[in-house]
Amino acid sequence: MSAPPRDGCALVTGASRGIGAACARALAEMGWPVIANYREDADGARGVVEEIERGGGRAKAVAADVSREEAPDILMEATRDGWGPALVVVNNAGRREDGLALQLEDDAWSHVLDANLCGPFRICRAFIPKMVRARFGRVVNVASIAGLRASRGQVNYAASKAGLIGMTRTLAAEVAHRGVTVNAVAPGFIGTEMTWDVSDDVLSKVPAGRFGRPDEIAACVGFLASEGAGYVTGTTLVADGGFSA
Ligand code: NAP
Repeated sequence: MSAPPRDGCALVTGASRGIGAACARALAEMGWPVIANYREDADGARGVVEEIERGGGRAKAVAADVSREEAPDILMEATRDGWGPALVVVNNAGRREDGLALQLEDDAWSHVLDANLCGPFRICRAFIPKMVRARFGRVVNVASIAGLRASRGQVNYAASKAGLIGMTRTLAAEVAHRGVTVNAVAPGFIGTEMTWDVSDDVLSKVPAGRFGRPDEIAACVGFLASEGAGYVTGTTLVADGGFSA
């Protein structure tokens, strides 16, 4: 593990498995103490923390449902006592609740928008002021190619991810002069629990001919979180094996 890049920590939401777990590991490799958030999967989050600690890093797991209004307070509390401020925030937690638009229930709409868009907004609103004070901050929002192009059966998910991309651009413009960057990563089909039901048939449309790996998305997040990416802001980095090329 490297030395911490700055006096602070990194927060990754939804870090108990999949892309979030890979981001937590990558940021720990970069030297950041990592707060690994999860909602229910305590065993998964504990496993990620133990793995980081075995590698010589520092991490702790914190339970909070990002779709709930109290989540930013719980996460902010976790940065006290020698961890914070959180100078890197990765809004990765997300969910799907698919259905064709004309049959979609209100609950499926609001569950997905609350977790994928309202949660990241509240977390940005709570955490960016400390980055502004530090004159350094990196926010990376994990969006999706579903936010950039049609994705049948995912009207709620697509709206949440398109909203996240719009939020990313506007926030970036508001805080760029304070040394804080705000970017998004838009993964294509990545092999995680979220895509358990996506059939291999989709690969005929992916020029790379395979699903992406969580660590390949974490590498994009790691770049956007790095010191060197200080002039990259408001952008969306698509990582989809050429699917939308
Ligand atoms: P995953 O394997 O299902 O993991 C989702 C993670 O988010 C878990 O750690 C889960 O923890 C957490 N989570 C879900 N809802 C939460 C909430 N309300 N509050 C806090 N944590 C919550 O999914 P993934 O594929 O790694 O997806 C991660 C992100 O990438 C999501 O935003 C997803 O939309 C995006 N993405 C994924 C793909 C893909 O192909 N996999 C493609 C594009 C974008 P608990 O189990 O504890 O709830």
